[in-house]
Amino acid sequence: MKTVDRKKPADIVVRLHALAYNLWWSWNPKAQLIFEELSPLIWEISNHNPVAVLAQFSGVGLRARLGDRRFLKDVDAVLHAFEHYMSKKSTCDPNDFGRNKLEVVAYLCAEFGLHECLPFYSGGLGVLAGDHAKSASDLGLPFVGIGLFYRQGYFQQRVDNTGTQHESYPTTDPSTIPVELVKDPEGKPLLCGMTIGSTIVYFQAWKIQAGRCGIFLLDTDVKENEEAFRGLTAFAYGGDMNTRIRQEMILGIGGVKLLRALGVKPEVYHMNEGHAAFLTLELLREQLDVGLSKQEAEEAVRSQCIFTTHTPVPAGHDHFPTDLVEFHFRTYSELMKLPMNELLEYGRDSRVTPENQFVMTVLGLKFSRAANGVSKKHSETTSAMWGNVFDGAHGKKSSIGCVTNGVHVPSWTSRTSWEFWERHNSHKWKEHLNDPRFWNHVTNPKIVSDEELWALRCTLRRELIEFIRQGARHLHVIGGVHGEEALAHLLSSDALTIGFARRFAPYKRASLLFSNLSQAATLFSDPQRPIQIVFAGKAHPRDGEGKEFLRRIIDIAREHPFFGKVLFIEDYDMNIARYLVAGCDVWLNTPRRPFEASGTSGQKVIINGGLHVSVLDGWWYEAYNSKIGWAVGRNGDDNLSSEEIDRRDAESLYDILKNEVIPLFFDRDREGIPRQWIAKMRNAMRTIIPVYNTHRMVMDYAKKYYFPKK
Ligand SMILES: *Cc1c(COP(=O)(O)O)cnc(C)c1O
Repeated sequence: MKTVDRKKPADIVVRLHALAYNLWWSWNPKAQLIFEELSPLIWEISNHNPVAVLAQFSGVGLRARLGDRRFLKDVDAVLHAFEHYMSKKSTCDPNDFGRNKLEVVAYLCAEFGLHECLPFYSGGLGVLAGDHAKSASDLGLPFVGIGLFYRQGYFQQRVDNTGTQHESYPTTDPSTIPVELVKDPEGKPLLCGMTIGSTIVYFQAWKIQAGRCGIFLLDTDVKENEEAFRGLTAFAYGGDMNTRIRQEMILGIGGVKLLRALGVKPEVYHMNEGHAAFLTLELLREQLDVGLSKQEAEEAVRSQCIFTTHTPVPAGHDHFPTDLVEFHFRTYSELMKLPMNELLEYGRDSRVTPENQFVMTVLGLKFSRAANGVSKKHSETTSAMWGNVFDGAHGKKSSIGCVTNGVHVPSWTSRTSWEFWERHNSHKWKEHLNDPRFWNHVTNPKIVSDEELWALRCTLRRELIEFIRQGARHLHVIGGVHGEEALAHLLSSDALTIGFARRFAPYKRASLLFSNLSQAATLFSDPQRPIQIVFAGKAHPRDGEGKEFLRRIIDIAREHPFFGKVLFIEDYDMNIARYLVAGCDVWLNTPRRPFEASGTSGQKVIINGGLHVSVLDGWWYEAYNSKIGWAVGRNGDDNLSSEEIDRRDAESLYDILKNEVIPLFFDRDREGIPRQWIAKMRNAMRTIIPVYNTHRMVMDYAKKYYFPKK
């Protein structure tokens, strides 16, 4: 192979293109700066997409830019770091595991949230999947992701003057984003086919490279398909039951078929939520096909599969009427040589599911050697709900386990916080993400002073406010003000800034803070101790109740004394999330217990020095102590009526804000520094960052479930 001269501009152009197509840049701010510097405008309007930036340049044009010695030096350093990362051996120590060779894990999920320029996610589940892939890459765990290519994404949100949500579905042109069409050895698009009902449906795949991991998104928009099937994968969680079951057949069955076409034979299949569970039927078909008995085939499938559930709400578990399954699997069950009633039995359990329903969670549990919930509390709820189904398939030895969700720390560290940690930790911090001793050391006042931490907080808050004011010039509704007028009225950089951003699902109770308007008004009217709150989030297009919560927030945002202090930002995405989790002093989470399986946004806040105020549910139930944050409401109230629980939780929230959070934030010494607040920040960083991150989470999955010691 020809050796490349690292300084030769023509080679650098090629290497920059390789970098643009590898999402590694999305968790390395210095790489982002290169593309931003090339074209600040395109970087901004393309939602930070390096492929769109490079498309602006001819080879000659780009080489000309590299004539700038300072810029060339920066580019060279980034490329060097990137290529070093890609060539690094796995940092997973095989001695940690039950096998001395780590084999491929296939991870199937209905959505992947990797970056705001790739709109293939709707919320927490997708962001978690994206963070999982990034940590697998950092750790060098062999990992391949399978998902769906939603050309029209989830939806873009606009909110009008009356607080009504409008959804639009702009089409993504794959040639403009960092994805590549998977080709066969002859260079033609790799096309796979499968039967749905009695039709053969074809699909192609788009590959996202996330560091060292590939993620393949399946796409039925190919000319070989009947018109009705071309749009099958266009929308995330859109359409009716027919669309839903067909999408899930593509994801599960198509996912396995794609892996085979690629020549990948994973040792472990991880179904992240029930949407992917049809994969087990395709694995079963393969085993029956090579002549195993039904029982042997079932065992063989079970030895390879892992199932994770994320939904504590019974109705949230994906299910289909059995006649719909029958209709879609008619030909398939003949191919499997498995009678239809036996196929249907895999998705039913008379103790927990109605006779005429096929439940994806049941299918997943019956065919998995391990299953888990995503926080301790959620695992208890899950065991109570589904423990019988799982035990029934496995004998009493196994039970539903727990791996608590985390976040990919480098992805949720704002650029400013990133520079802060680099300054203080001599570039080592990324290697110690899940090392408690390291975080204990660096949060020590001898290493970072109160003054420095407070300066970081004030910078991040200011950055959020400027981002919002900038956005207010073109976004239609932000707290009822728009245009230039907004600049003068919106927010204050000295106020205690609270954030609430997540899906507008009713159980998340976005408006709990405003359930008693006079108490809320008192909190928002103190000129000595100003507070403000920023909301963001989408309601599912068919969730009328969720939309009502949104309307209520918009109404409140217009009223005195909330005007200019209560804001709603449209079109929540990973970019807005990054600003919010960095800029807010306090992150508010008020779900109705026990419906929050884990929640992760509160974990993102801590990395940037924010504090968490939350109901004791999901991850907070196990992480909380009074030195690191605040707990809203009381557990044990759970048998009261929901109105009464709402009332008590709201009282508790007012009490905490009024008597604890606000006084602590404004308790300043002569230098204007809130020493006790900062002490709390240090405690939270020290205890939360090293535990509630996806490096720890992926290692837990690897040790407990992917490659367990026997
Ligand atoms: C982190 C994140 C979520 C998940 O937040 P929860 O607290 O789990 O509800 C949803 N959407 C976006 C864009 C995120 O970044």
